Amino acid sequence: HCEADVNNNTLGEVITKDPVPEFKWHILWEFVKPQLFALICAVVLAFGSAMLNIQIPLMLGDLVNVVARYLREHSGNYVSEIKGPAMKLLGLYGIQGLLTTGYIILLSKVGERVAADMRKTLFASLLRQDVAFFDANKTGQLVNRLTADIQEFKSSFKLIISQGLRSITQTVGCFVSLYVISPKLTGLTVVVLPCLVGAGALIGSFLRKLSRLAQEQVAKATGVADEALGNVRTVKAFAMEERELQLYAYEVDKSCEMNENLGGGIAVFQGLSNVALNCIVLGTIFAGGTLISSNEMSPGDLMSFLVASQTVQRSLASISILFGQVVRGISSGARVFEYLSLQPTIPLSGGGRIPYHSLIGRVDFMNISFSYPTRPGHEVLKKFNLTLPPCKTIAIVGESGGGKSTVASLLERFYDPTSGVVMLDGLDIRTLDLAWIRGQVIGFINQEPVLFGSSILENIRFGKPDATDAEVISAAKQANAHRFITSFPDGYNTMVGERGVTLSGGQKQRIAIARALIKNPSILVLDEATSALDAESERVVQEALDRATKGRTVLIIAHRLSTIQGADLICVMSNGRIVEAGTHLELLSKGGLYSDLICRQRAEGQK
Ligand code: ADP
Repeated sequence: HCEADVNNNTLGEVITKDPVPEFKWHILWEFVKPQLFALICAVVLAFGSAMLNIQIPLMLGDLVNVVARYLREHSGNYVSEIKGPAMKLLGLYGIQGLLTTGYIILLSKVGERVAADMRKTLFASLLRQDVAFFDANKTGQLVNRLTADIQEFKSSFKLIISQGLRSITQTVGCFVSLYVISPKLTGLTVVVLPCLVGAGALIGSFLRKLSRLAQEQVAKATGVADEALGNVRTVKAFAMEERELQLYAYEVDKSCEMNENLGGGIAVFQGLSNVALNCIVLGTIFAGGTLISSNEMSPGDLMSFLVASQTVQRSLASISILFGQVVRGISSGARVFEYLSLQPTIPLSGGGRIPYHSLIGRVDFMNISFSYPTRPGHEVLKKFNLTLPPCKTIAIVGESGGGKSTVASLLERFYDPTSGVVMLDGLDIRTLDLAWIRGQVIGFINQEPVLFGSSILENIRFGKPDATDAEVISAAKQANAHRFITSFPDGYNTMVGERGVTLSGGQKQRIAIARALIKNPSILVLDEATSALDAESERVVQEALDRATKGRTVLIIAHRLSTIQGADLICVMSNGRIVEAGTHLELLSKGGLYSDLICRQRAEGQK
């Protein structure tokens, strides 16, 4: 029953998994090129070490011949006779060890540098992509490509070059030695050995598949635990501890069973292969002994033969493992390379800029239609028109999901409209330099703000990387944040984010405001928090915002209505376009959609 289950899983996965992207050799070449010299040296050393490995069985044979002769004749000086071949062998061991050390050092250097380059290039390429790309790809999978896939590719790369080269050289070389030593025994080996190695490879690949399935099962169990622990408040709030435990226990038991099966498989495999290997030795000695007794072979030859055939065995086994590694390396490499050559549709730089003193800060949305690339059938904006006059505050209100935040995203050029134009001072923003628009013209305050895991100082400076400390402090003062920041023992150096102090919602918002103000932007976009603050925090934040909006073109995406009553113009959105516009009082007296919204929100507030 369990097996059927496992098969179902694999089937399901084959269907849902993305098609494996193509492996692009020219991209690999770009990464390897800078390390080519070290790589060639590594290859030469690895080849040399393999060649020496081929000599070792022959030399061991010489040694054994000396011993055998001494045993037979009991004459001559044993020590002086054995000294020559022994020293030669010792020298060979030494050089072989040095070469091995050398090529492993070089190869890990090449591997690490190639991997580091890949990481940096991939990260740069990911950061360059459009917002739409991140809508379509899960962050976890992207991070996986940076970590697990590159790791896998690196180990495969190193293994294929070192082991592959060695194993192939040794197999070929030792086979030649075998043939030179005894064509008859070699004939026998040629029949038996590949059969055994083939059988071993088959069982091995089956076991690896089991192991992969078991690992996936472990990952699934971990996922359950991760989700439960990550959302522990929700789990507790619904008293779901028991059920989460059951879910986890089920997955863990399944993975336990799979790992036990795997363990059993490995045990049988080990046992069988021990028997097989020992039988080969026994068989060789038996057949070789027959040849020795008929004087067709010396004892030293038998020794050489034994050692050389062991080397062939080991090499063939590692070649069979390498096949799997090649497949895995290529598919993880392909996943890494997939996004390297991906060009964003919205280029981050290039295009014109308007000199600061002549920038007015007027924005026009003209006849904009838009659907999100991930939901092409669903038109969010339909021939949307709106003008943001310079230095005025415009608020957009409307039902949740009506497309308000989308308007802000289009202004930031997170997406380009399907049709229509967004204009800044009468110029199509697609002709303007995006880095300049985002970096200097528009300040974006998302009021459910994200702080990075660094100091408050660095978080505010995120808005303008070359800002001086004085500029940071002045922005913090404008944002009503200076007082609470200086009340921390470490002041501006207080660490925030994941591993730092926990700030209240209002404090985070004020830092986000400071972060936007430090750019001194001509246009400010406020995407209002959907969750309410307590009255006192709201007052401080509102005060900061009132100050921040002075002298700027401001677009407020209002998810609540209480904060925008002072706006110069309130636009009500419905069905992807603006249906009403006016001041608070005008709209109220009109008794349209806006007054409905107000009534509804009041009623909800009273509940
Ligand atoms: P509002 O700000 O008025 O609440 P939004 O602009 O956030 O509305 O969303 C408008 C519509 O677009 C909603 O139906 C929402 O589900 C959809 N939407 C928002 N963001 C995305 C996205 N990144 N990808 C696909 N659809 C989205």
